[in-house]
This record gives sequence, structure tokens and C-alpha cells, in this order.
Amino acid sequence: PNPHPTPTVVLHACLGVGHLIPMVELAKLLLLRGLAAVIAVPTPPASTADFFSSSASAVAELAAANPSVSFHHLPPPDYPAPDPDPFLQMLDALRLTAPALAAFLRSLPSVAALVLDLFCVDALDAAASIGVPAYFYYTSCAGDLAAFLHLPHYFAETDGGASFKDMGKALLRFPGVPPIPASDMPHTVLDRADRTCAVRVGHYGRFPEARGVLINTYEWLEARTVRALKDGVCVPGRPTPPVYPIGPLIVKGQDAAAEVERHACLAWLDTQPERSVVFLCFGSLGAVSAAQLKEIARGLESSGHRFLWVVRSPLDDPSKFFLSRPEPDLDALLPEGFLERTKDNGMVVKMWAPQVEVLRHAATGAFVTHCGWNSVLEAASAGVPMLCWPLYAEQRLNKVFVVGEMKAGAVMDGYDEEMVTAEEVEKKVRLVMESEEGEKLRERLALAKEKAAEALADGGLSRVAFEEFLNDLKLAN
Ligand code: UDP
Repeated sequence: PNPHPTPTVVLHACLGVGHLIPMVELAKLLLLRGLAAVIAVPTPPASTADFFSSSASAVAELAAANPSVSFHHLPPPDYPAPDPDPFLQMLDALRLTAPALAAFLRSLPSVAALVLDLFCVDALDAAASIGVPAYFYYTSCAGDLAAFLHLPHYFAETDGGASFKDMGKALLRFPGVPPIPASDMPHTVLDRADRTCAVRVGHYGRFPEARGVLINTYEWLEARTVRALKDGVCVPGRPTPPVYPIGPLIVKGQDAAAEVERHACLAWLDTQPERSVVFLCFGSLGAVSAAQLKEIARGLESSGHRFLWVVRSPLDDPSKFFLSRPEPDLDALLPEGFLERTKDNGMVVKMWAPQVEVLRHAATGAFVTHCGWNSVLEAASAGVPMLCWPLYAEQRLNKVFVVGEMKAGAVMDGYDEEMVTAEEVEKKVRLVMESEEGEKLRERLALAKEKAAEALADGGLSRVAFEEFLNDLKLAN
């Protein structure tokens, strides 16, 4: 055997596409710096494989698209009685995978560190048992991290108090972030009595055990929050591990000049005037109801603005959230005659569009987004103002920060009610495309784009933070 094997950084992924994409980007950075990097991917237990079919296919696609990155498939855990809740099922699957992860770590000749997805908290034990330094890679914003890190303290202080779900829009004041309406807290922590809440709060109580936390953000975008995290004021009474804002790590997207086949929507964008198109896309899992699709269509049509809209089949059964969905039947789902009437200034794409390329395209003027963190970073890096329409996970929280802290977007009112009306869609599209407020957003986003590029250039703050992380790795080994 080689007496000096290249130290390997093992990145432990979860089952979400939005977490895997930035993890692959981090692996590529590590490879560039001469380390070996392996992404350890959990295999959903056979009994739950149906639930995770969409992430399983995404892993295969990512592996094919990134031949330099190695993936190691951890064997499925023994999980005889899967939890009926899909989210707890995923967390259970990750927890039960820890022994397989430990075995994998032991099988490697030299492990420099274990880098954990934010859902893989139980793997801290595997790292500790083998004496490998553990870090988190936080693939959402610093604001979310600050709020979540404060939660164990908040719940202890307010023991026996109201749940967020019963507090309406009462403002929560946590260190380092703007006031958060209680109803915008992630659904997993809305109910104190809920098991999911206990698991999540327990997880964040363990975060400070890590040696450090890499965050996919850049300091300029969340300056106050990053400062608060570095000052250690988000976790009262306990030291906060060092944080490393190393982002924005987003997929590069294909060059316009690349010789691969371009998606038809990009060719369509080529024929549209600069900054004239509103792009609507709701992440890798987002879908709205059939009635809501019709309402969006009416709002877009009456705004008169050009649009590029990614449409998914409505999700009728929430327990099928993680399942691959069938292609939408546009004629049945959209208002009668809509496609014909808007064919000159709109394009509807089924299921998936190359979002990074679309956002970077000169014709794109605004982005209606569910506020998944990758989407926000991609919009900020491309300088495109956002209309925030949060749907699931921590997206309401992201919306609070995008609008209140980053000043990078406006809200689609009604996101927390049964329906966002056609009138609201029209109003907000006009606001961002026609008004002075829209112009201000555009100026702000132009700056966000410039600062993102600066952060990633040689000597930029995100590069410096990555160097600091690498230095800490050396110290730890
Ligand atoms: N994405 C895409 N095309 C689509 C939908 C999503 O390229 O039609 C990509 C998007 O660019 C982003 C990721 O999928 O990189 C979604 O991540 P995000 O954090 O925004 O949302 P999530 O899917 O985790 O809710």
C-alpha cells in the first residue's frame, strides 16, 4: 500500500437534489486543491425506495455529469417500520446509515475530514468514534443557520409557551437576523409538540459539536448575519464553531458557445429583448395546485409581459412529495386558449429548464422563485431580481431574508393563503418590470452580482474563507 495516501475528505450527502448540487461543487473545489473527495450517498432503504426515486435518479445524473467526482453508495439501512411522514423517514434513513458510514470511513487509508450535509447530524458520532474531524456544509443561507442555531435556546427559554403555529405573524427576534414572523418559520418547527420539531431542535443543539461550518453564501449578501455567527451571539452560552462562507458555489451552466445541444427555451430567449422575460420556476420539487396554475396563467397574460414558465404536474397527495411526477398535460391544466393566445410572448416548459443558463441570459428580467437557496444564489450571481413565492422546507425563512435583509426581491402576497390571485401575479410582475421599485431592485441585484464575482475571484472573501478551512483541516490532522 501507498505509505502516503492522499487524504480524503468524505462528504456525507442527504437525499435532496438541492443539497447534492452544491455538495458536488464543493467536492470539485477540494479536488482542485489536491485532496481526494468522495461523496458518500445514502441508499434509501428498500421499503422506502419509492419515496426517494427522484433523488436516486438525480444522483445518477450528477455522477454522469461530473466524472471527476467519486460517489460511494452506502448500503441501505435496516429500517423495518418506516415512519409514515416522508421527512422523518428521510431523517431516520440518514440516522440508521451512520454505522455504514463509520465502516466506510474505517475502510479508507487516510481520512482528512467528514463534511456533513445539514441533515446528517447523527453522523457526528461516527466521526467522533473514529477520531475524524467533522464539519457541516450548510447549503442554505447564513440567516437560516443563525435562526436554527438559536432555536434550542429559544425553546428552552420559552418552555411551555405557544407554538409558532399559534403565534400568527408575531415577530421573533433572534440575534443576527431581521425579525421573523412566526408563521414564516419552517413547517418542521411550527408545532412544539410535534416529533419532527423535537428531532430538528435536537439536531441544531448538536451543531456546535462540529469543528466548523462551511456555508454556501458570501459575506456581502448576509454581512450582519455572518458577523453575528462569527461573534458567537447566535448560540447563547456555548461557543459557536468557526463559520466559513465559501459561496456562492453554484453549477457553472453550459457556455453559450458549447457544442452541446441547447435547450429550446434558450434559443427562444435569444429572440427576446434584453431583460424583458419573467422566468417562473419552483425548484426541483415545487409544484402548485391545478387551480393555482390557472390563476398564474391569467395573471401573466393580463400583465402583458413576456414569460418563460416551468410547469410541473400538481401534487395531489403530499405523501408523494419525493416521488418522480408524471409530465403535465398543459392543455388540460392551463386556461383554454392560453397557449395559443400567448404563443408570441410566452413559453411554457414542462418539468425542467436549465435554470442557471436561463438566469444568466440577457433576456431574463425577473425570477418568480420558491426561494430554495440554490435558486436565490443563482439569481443573485446573475443579477436578476426575485419575486418570492415560498412553497416548502425553509423557503419562507429564506424569503424573509431575501426581502428584508438582502433587499433582493419582493413578495408574492398570498403565498401563505389558499391562493395567490391572478391580480397579485399581474401586480408584482408589473412592479418588478415597470416601476421605480423594480429599477431599484435591478440596481441592487447588479451589485449583488458584482460582489458574488468578487468573492470568488483570487483573494476574494469566499476564497480566503476556503483557505482558512483548508488550514484548519491541516491543524486538525
Ligand atoms: N433547477 C433547474 N431547473 C428546474 C428546476 C430546478 O435547473 O427546472 C435547479 C436549480 O437551478 C437549482 C436546483 O435545481 O440549482 C434547485 O435547488 P433549490 O435550492 O433552489 O431548491 P430545492 O429544489 O432544493 O427546493
